[in-house]
Amino acid sequence: MNFDGFNFDSDTRRTLSLLVSANRLPHAVIIESRSAQKALEVATYLSAFAVCGSGEKPCGACKQCKNAFARAHCDIQYVKPDSKSKTGIYNIDQIRALAGDAQIRPNDADCKVYIFEEADKRFPEVSQNAFLKLLEEPPQRIYFFLLCQSAKALLGTIRSRCTVIRTGGDALPSEDALESAKAIARGILSSREYELLRALNDLTDKEKQADILLGVKLLLRDALAVLSGGDALTDSETARLLAARLTRAKLIGMIELTDSSDYKLKQNININLLTTWLCGEYRRILWQR
Ligand SMILES: [Zn+2]
Repeated sequence: MNFDGFNFDSDTRRTLSLLVSANRLPHAVIIESRSAQKALEVATYLSAFAVCGSGEKPCGACKQCKNAFARAHCDIQYVKPDSKSKTGIYNIDQIRALAGDAQIRPNDADCKVYIFEEADKRFPEVSQNAFLKLLEEPPQRIYFFLLCQSAKALLGTIRSRCTVIRTGGDALPSEDALESAKAIARGILSSREYELLRALNDLTDKEKQADILLGVKLLLRDALAVLSGGDALTDSETARLLAARLTRAKLIGMIELTDSSDYKLKQNININLLTTWLCGEYRRILWQR
């Protein structure tokens, strides 16, 4: 394998080298990483590997590689969620249409690649079942890459038909920040608003705030995994509490909310405004019907 132009750590390089041993790429790969950006880089790299016609793949020099690296190759599709859906999911009609598209011959390369970003968030169960049919009888020369923070949030039947790889160097919150995140998770489930407000107050610590929000996201992801019959990676007790009270849709809503507050913090929003807003929004989602 040729890693020129990619800043992968040694763990990721080793994982990728093992993945394509004998120069063959599995037709379905789940790329698990705490960082969506990192997962995307790995997917871009593997898509170039798939389409490159040169000896040491991906050569980085041929037309196929250049288009793949620029994420502008006509046979490599970054599947976008249905534009009509407010929640940003892959709906079942879309997956059925994709199954039809996969039967059509590639345009430029001798294979086609479909990349699903944030697959753990965007794939409702009904669409996963439609996708499963495609995985069970994959058309010739088709590759599927599913990117996610936790593969456990996907159906076991999907996971068992994919090769799962994990990329190294993932960020984890400090123990201290994780404790604050757990308090926020319990606050979210509390019937008393002040418990959530009090827990959110930890976000006033500028040093810790990004780490705490990461912790909250990981706990919510863990709860999604528990709902799908998987294991929690961060804190199983909190994940079980969340999973017992919140539906999949609510969990996803809260993950997106946490993401957007991370973004607001980077734009230097007033922290008191942010915690009040977050508190209201978490509770709005909690009580949504
Ligand atoms: Zn090439």
